[in-house]
Amino acid sequence: MSERVIPLVDQRLSALRAEVPANEWQGGPLLDQLHRPLHDLRISVTDRCNFRCNYCMPKEVFNKDYSYLPHGDLLNFEEITRLAKVFVGLGVRKIRLTGGEPLLRKNLEILVSQLAQIQTPDRSKLDLTLTTNGSLLTKKAQQLKDAGLDRITVSLDGLDDAVFRVMNDVDFPVRDVLDGIEAAQKAGLGIKVNMVVKRQTNTNQIVPMAKHFRGSGIALRFIEYMDVGATNGWRMNEVLSSAEVVALVQQVYPLVLLPASTTGETAQRWGYADASGKFDPALGEIGVISSVTQAFCGTCNRARLSTEGKLYLCLFASLGYDLRELMRDRNASDANLASSIANIWDHRDDRYSELRASLSPDANAKTQRVEMSYIGG
Ligand code: SAM
Ligand code: SF4
Ligand code: SF4
Repeated sequence: MSERVIPLVDQRLSALRAEVPANEWQGGPLLDQLHRPLHDLRISVTDRCNFRCNYCMPKEVFNKDYSYLPHGDLLNFEEITRLAKVFVGLGVRKIRLTGGEPLLRKNLEILVSQLAQIQTPDRSKLDLTLTTNGSLLTKKAQQLKDAGLDRITVSLDGLDDAVFRVMNDVDFPVRDVLDGIEAAQKAGLGIKVNMVVKRQTNTNQIVPMAKHFRGSGIALRFIEYMDVGATNGWRMNEVLSSAEVVALVQQVYPLVLLPASTTGETAQRWGYADASGKFDPALGEIGVISSVTQAFCGTCNRARLSTEGKLYLCLFASLGYDLRELMRDRNASDANLASSIANIWDHRDDRYSELRASLSPDANAKTQRVEMSYIGG
């Protein structure tokens, strides 16, 4: 693979915004320019985090001088719930709370309880989940479950304490996250674990992680290290491809490819095989998310709402649409909000990962992008 480098710079773009397109959407099924429906909404509830994973919030940039959003700029819980309802009316069936570290947002369980009450038009329950670094789960798992959360995703980049401390870069012990996962299991939350793989840094954790979670009822997913944001100094040669991850696990535990469970599923699923070579559900599965080596933009049905209420149509977008302004300054009604969001989605043609390979390193370096900690993963 050729070496491409995204330079270490801080390009916070929250002050910029895209113009909401004119009212062209005529009603009917809401599809973007590439015929993708709006199904999945990720809501970032804070841009702060207690970790400094260097692929996401490197210490050199996110230091004591970094200016995080002032509290008044954040969407409050009522605004988030109101927007969530409007999105559900437009087709959203899955909401993921994220950040920054979402469990740092005070009284998050109150928001969870408000969102858990939202029903889809056919009166089914919304698929509500949350992604966390797990550091506060021991304290919060039961409260979240009681508030109506059914499942969570915990990010965990290794089992070896020394490797984990390097990955989080704040010397946080892995034991506390493992205790958090246990607390979530006890509380009855469904759990997935996500591991970002950086060649050399935590490649040696792939097999131990597979071994630890095999047969535990927890699906482990490996994520390719992405060139998201503009601060992590991404290099292509630090990406370990999903194919390499699967090959490493296969050497120890035979795997069989499983069908996708839903359209727009980001992970390719591999089940652990029994002695006869057939998938054994008791042993469970792993997933690989190949955002770099096998783009899945063609089925991407995800929108992202930033902490301060800007709507982003792609993880790699540079501009967001200011829904907070529509609500706070222009007193938009729910119907106005719905038609603005529908028009925005109607115009969407983003497919960065499919285009990545064709972009020159220079064009890539000049592209201004928002940070993952601002729009959420
Ligand atoms: N703090 C929470 C956490 O870590 O789970 C939620 C927010 S974090 C931005 C969401 C997800 O994005 C995490 O699973 C994290 O590992 C992933 N992520 C962040 N930067 C990434 C990168 N450069 N490449 C791939 N995944 C990344
Ligand atoms: Fe924090 Fe999550 Fe980013 Fe790590 S990946 S720095 S835990 S927001
Ligand atoms: Fe979706 Fe953008 Fe990722 Fe493609 S690059 S899968 S459009 S978020």
